[in-house]
Amino acid sequence: MYQAKRIPGTSLALAERRFEQVSRSALDTEQALRKGIRNQEVYLDYQPKVDAASGKLLGFEALARWQRPGIGLVSPVDFIAIAERTGLIPELGAMLLERACHQIAAWRLAYGDCLPVAVNVSPMQLLNQGFPQLVERLLRESGIPPSSLTLEITESAAVDNLADTQHQLQQLRALGVEVAMDDFGTGFSSLSMLRELPLSTLKIDRGLISPLPAPDAVAVVTAICRLASALELQVVAEGIETLEQAIAARDAGCHALQGFFYARPLSVADAGDWLQRQCGGADCDADDDEAAL
Ligand code: C2E
Ligand code: MG
Ligand code: MG
Ligand code: MG
Repeated sequence: MYQAKRIPGTSLALAERRFEQVSRSALDTEQALRKGIRNQEVYLDYQPKVDAASGKLLGFEALARWQRPGIGLVSPVDFIAIAERTGLIPELGAMLLERACHQIAAWRLAYGDCLPVAVNVSPMQLLNQGFPQLVERLLRESGIPPSSLTLEITESAAVDNLADTQHQLQQLRALGVEVAMDDFGTGFSSLSMLRELPLSTLKIDRGLISPLPAPDAVAVVTAICRLASALELQVVAEGIETLEQAIAARDAGCHALQGFFYARPLSVADAGDWLQRQCGGADCDADDDEAAL
């Protein structure tokens, strides 16, 4: 009897303490992120994307990083989710998008006008009523051509709210920006949805690319590329880590390749070196067509 009373009492107290600790740490993280956004602790790295046939640089994907004081680098998977849960995503998303637009403008000035940058947009950000207006304002303020900006969206926004997603994307495409469906092949998007959304690009998820050049994986990636071609969509393979994967993805019909095999996400300075090497002066038609995969 004594024990029966004591054990649940103790475990309840423990559970309460644990709950308090967890809530406090969630609150700490939220406050730290809020402060981090203000203090410029959140920034973008840029991962090169190359042409599958020539190996030439085609552009970059901007990837958010949070250098949290006393803790170190926090994964975007974690802090974007926190920003979404706590309502910080509009502010954080707008700041990152503005940063990317200004970076595109700076690179255009230095290296010419040919390299688009893709920015990830979370579902909550995309479905925000004022999002197309925000993009329009940032394009105007940075003076970049709309086609130099690609927005990467994920399937979950579209699956949960097809009509709203369609509406937002139509407005964005009308501005002239490109739209890519990110992580394609992992979610639940139906093929008919691809027809209904005004996309420019499909990015095939690393989960489908890693097993290349296994024959069944080749079959799946080839089928996706055929479908994309019928819908007039460009295809990017993400997560290319080996030469064999690069060759298989190219032969399956992917137009562009991205992954650690080519480069990890780079600092602005290192991305600038890529631009300098591949674009040289003020335009991108440097004669490095021979660049190997
Ligand atoms: P994602 O958009 O699919 O980005 C690709 C992720 O794969 C990046 O992880 C990149 O570093 C990683 N990656 C690239 N190549 C390779 C490779 O060859 N091998 C492996 N193993 N990984 C590779 P990261 O930077 O940790 O970003 C994770 C996710 O966080 C992104 O996935 C994206 O969904 C989200 N994210 C990142 N930045 C932002 C942002 O600014 N806004 C929003 N809303 N989401 C972001
Ligand atoms: Mg992405
Ligand atoms: Mg992706
Ligand atoms: Mg992915």
